[in-house]
Amino acid sequence: MVAPIAIIGGGPSGLTLARLLEVKGIDYVVYERDDAEPSVPQGGSLDLHPDSGQLALKQAGLFDEFLKHARYDATVFNILDKNGTSLLKIGDGRDAPEIDRPMLRKILLESIPKEKILWGHGVKSVDRDQEGKVVVTFQNGKTETGFKLLVGADGAWSKTRHLLTPVQPIYSGKMYIETSVTPTNPFHGTLKERIGPGSLMAVAPKQNVLAMCQGDGSYKVYASVSVAADFAKTELDIHNKPDEARQLLVERFFGDWSNDLTEMILKADGKIREWPLYYLPPDELPWKQVSGVTLLGDAAHLTTPFVGEGVNCAMTDAMRLAEEIGKHGVDGLDEAVKAYEEDMIPRGVDLIQRSQGAGELFYGAGSPGSVVDVFSGGGGGDDGTW
Ligand SMILES: Cc1cc2nc3c(=O)[nH]c(=O)nc-3n(C[C@H](O)[C@H](O)[C@H](O)COP(=O)(O)OP(=O)(O)OC[C@H]3O[C@@H](n4cnc5c(N)ncnc54)[C@H](O)[C@@H]3O)c2cc1C
Repeated sequence: MVAPIAIIGGGPSGLTLARLLEVKGIDYVVYERDDAEPSVPQGGSLDLHPDSGQLALKQAGLFDEFLKHARYDATVFNILDKNGTSLLKIGDGRDAPEIDRPMLRKILLESIPKEKILWGHGVKSVDRDQEGKVVVTFQNGKTETGFKLLVGADGAWSKTRHLLTPVQPIYSGKMYIETSVTPTNPFHGTLKERIGPGSLMAVAPKQNVLAMCQGDGSYKVYASVSVAADFAKTELDIHNKPDEARQLLVERFFGDWSNDLTEMILKADGKIREWPLYYLPPDELPWKQVSGVTLLGDAAHLTTPFVGEGVNCAMTDAMRLAEEIGKHGVDGLDEAVKAYEEDMIPRGVDLIQRSQGAGELFYGAGSPGSVVDVFSGGGGGDDGTW
């Protein structure tokens, strides 16, 4: 017999929902594409906010575990111009501690019985059969059906979303090229002195450079550039010729930037990967509720990451949906989804729009002055809001 609730995707939103259902004693199953114990989730660390990510972990009974790994000294954020001059330091003492993605995933995973997560279950498609029942087809050819609710928590390229809306992610025109400076790198000491446990962001029109400390002391470094979505594939050979790729990036986009900033890219020793940044068009987001299916997190409201709240919003989704399922029970899932979506959709639209605004600020012609004006004028940032 299948579980009443199937969750596709074991990212922050799917696993938070799984844990919250576990706490409520409601049966579920998680289908995750990754093989067995997870490959390390990519990307920088995440700051969890009190009313969203932190609150979800409190409701999940995992806040004490989170506190063991939360980095409260990592909230300082230094904004620089392209000459490497510090313009503003914000975030000191902010209640938004950082946690590494792999650690967040580990905490959530360890709180769920192993048999509830089916690894290596990449979903190929989700459709309705002739009777209208939702059928999940996996990449390994197997199918599953009969769930009372299918929750798509499968991120940007959700296979579930089309059952609710035809909307597709749009490329923002911005790409992060991510690399890192590991603790064994001879350059690491210099970076530690410059950045400490927090992060920096150097901004100018069209280009930014970011660096942020991770739990193991390494620094994730992002060269953020305004390019076509296929740029990394067609113009950078990041896998075979990483050193050339770093050089090309600096020459092409950061030629007149301070050496202190460009050497973070040139001297990085970690793997390089690209993150073309996509978002869902907010005006097209609202959808009409359909029976038996809903979305969580990036699957529902994919956004560019410029306000750094995606994971907080995703975990809030999980919290709200679990609350409604708890209230209405497995025989009232349509009512639960209705109440959840009424709350989630405006929250998701608001996040996408605020991130669009922040993107215009960071990459616009007025950068870095406009960024400093907004952050120092109380228009946003210091308390994590925009
Ligand atoms: C470069 C970058 C930086 C970011 N920085 C921040 C930040 O600082 N702060 C912040 O709050 N947010 C940040 N975000 C956003 C944040 O990462 C996301 O909002 C968050 O991860 C969403 O969680 P999710 O569980 O909804 O989706 P995801 O994290 O995408 O997880 C989806 C899960 O589903 C699985 N999956 C995908 N497809 C399938 C399939 N077909 N079948 C089965 N499983 C599948 C994946 O393997 C994954 O485990 C950033 C995003 C990017 C791109």
